[in-house]
Amino acid sequence: MAVLGNPKNTIQVIQKYNFDFQKRFGQNFLIDEHVIEKIMKAADLTEEDCILEIGPGIGTMTQYLAEVVREVIAVEIDKNLIPILKDTLSGYSNIIIRNEDILKVDINTLVNEHNQGKPIKVVANLPYYITTPIIMGLFEKHVPLESMIVMVQKEVAERMQVGPGTKDYGALSLAVQYYAEPEIVANVPQNCFIPRPNVGSAVIKLTRHKQPPVKTKDEAALFRMIRASFNQRRKTLINSLRNASDLSYEKEEIEMALRQMELPLTIRGEALNLEQFARLTDILVKEK
Ligand code: SAM
Repeated sequence: MAVLGNPKNTIQVIQKYNFDFQKRFGQNFLIDEHVIEKIMKAADLTEEDCILEIGPGIGTMTQYLAEVVREVIAVEIDKNLIPILKDTLSGYSNIIIRNEDILKVDINTLVNEHNQGKPIKVVANLPYYITTPIIMGLFEKHVPLESMIVMVQKEVAERMQVGPGTKDYGALSLAVQYYAEPEIVANVPQNCFIPRPNVGSAVIKLTRHKQPPVKTKDEAALFRMIRASFNQRRKTLINSLRNASDLSYEKEEIEMALRQMELPLTIRGEALNLEQFARLTDILVKEK
């Protein structure tokens, strides 16, 4: 089977199978070898690696991955792509194709079975409609993970990277930075895909921290606090936290915590960095 990753061979495969693109599955296939090479370089692969590829499509990146690593586990939701993948990847014996919804797969069990529980790498051109649940799911379920190199919508990549004081800063920035070091490795224009997406894309590398950069007594409470603070972005932190249905702090308690941290009582959540959120959580959790 021909190497994919260019318009001619991709179109040939699509025509051979009369494949219908499914918008609901976020199907935009990569047709640019340079972009794939950048992804491969950033992934820093070795022949021992076990890779989880989310949404292999017709197997374009899967071919590149299988050339270098020990094993690729490719999870694809669209059953119409399975016979195509079996064809395009028929020359490789180190690829496992699973026809499943990645959000329903028990990835921890997969990692145990295929990599003896050792950290895997995720490499994917993600379906954009579920970028955040995929990334946060991998982190929150504590999947053994070394890094993720993923194509996402450009704005989402930027949101993951920024700190306080920028309009893109939010719950996603804090959550990602709690677990990993983000680095945008390439901006990818619309014409690198077929069909062309309506938005710009970027490849971001998330390197998992060995230890989170801040310590907190209660990780779950920290994330409830962060989410509540950005739910109503324009409100003061005090009001956002008081209005949150999954938190139960009195105004006076929050005021006391802010005074202890020497922060103004009118401050908004968007002005706090990760360390300050962790400190605030610890003060309030201690109060309970
Ligand atoms: N990797 C291919 C490429 O780069 O050409 C395809 C990338 S395309 C942006 C996203 C892929 O994810 C599609 O193949 C789509 O069918 C698949 N997908 C969408 N939702 C999924 C889900 N919940 N679980 C697994 N795969 C999914």
